[in-house]
Amino acid sequence: MTNQNTAAILLRRIEYGDYDLIVTLFTEAEGKTSAIAKSAKKSVKRFPGVLEPFSLIHVVLTRGKGKGMPVLKEASLEAPYFKIREDILKTSYASYWAELIYLWMADGQPQKNLYHLMIHVLNELDRGEIPVEILSILFQMRFLSIAGFRPNFDHCHTCKTDLDRIECASVVADPAKGGIICPRCGGAIGNALRLSKGTLKQLMWIDSNDLGLASRIRFTPTAIAEGLAFLESFVPFHIGKSPKSLKVLRDIRRAMARGAALKAQSGRSQGNSK
Ligand SMILES: [Zn+2]
Repeated sequence: MTNQNTAAILLRRIEYGDYDLIVTLFTEAEGKTSAIAKSAKKSVKRFPGVLEPFSLIHVVLTRGKGKGMPVLKEASLEAPYFKIREDILKTSYASYWAELIYLWMADGQPQKNLYHLMIHVLNELDRGEIPVEILSILFQMRFLSIAGFRPNFDHCHTCKTDLDRIECASVVADPAKGGIICPRCGGAIGNALRLSKGTLKQLMWIDSNDLGLASRIRFTPTAIAEGLAFLESFVPFHIGKSPKSLKVLRDIRRAMARGAALKAQSGRSQGNSK
């Protein structure tokens, strides 16, 4: 029997039988690893509020001699992320990032850059100084680079014209081609993901600079809307899976936008009645 002491990000947990949980952990040294938490369902006291999605925890895993799954012996919170958990929108973004990692990663292959990227965006999300949408753009752009799916924004995929020489303010993004198409080559594409040149430059900037600096870039509202629409289509396409948490995130965003519109409307009608 060997014991392993490590920090880990919890990517997913599922119920196993009547009492146990299987947790999927992301550690710096080993990448994605699953472990069984025996009686975790029954005895809430053993792991109170700890085994939650995207928690940063400290774990003790025990491995037997065989090839069986390691057993989670102890788990304690390293970062509680209270400010994320009390906010439904922040929680849904963090859950989406954790699910992307879970869906893309193979077991037992370290991904140190991705591990540090995830901790960076969770810490910043908890601190609350940077808008969650910008953190999500940062996470997804850098995730694409780490995963080897970096989109090509340098030139039109079809005619190879450089971005700077394309004589239009916006281009069309084509996830299947891994990049952009100029309006001349993609004129007939309807219902397409349009990206202005300004958005493209900001997306490239956020991917190429130091993490701390990149988080502080100011996006215009148009760049945020275009960047999120593009990435939330491009990333699932390239990992070949549809994250369930993305649907939840979209539903919550829609409901919040509806709520904000209703509030603005009732504010206006109250103002009129005065
Ligand atoms: Zn072209």
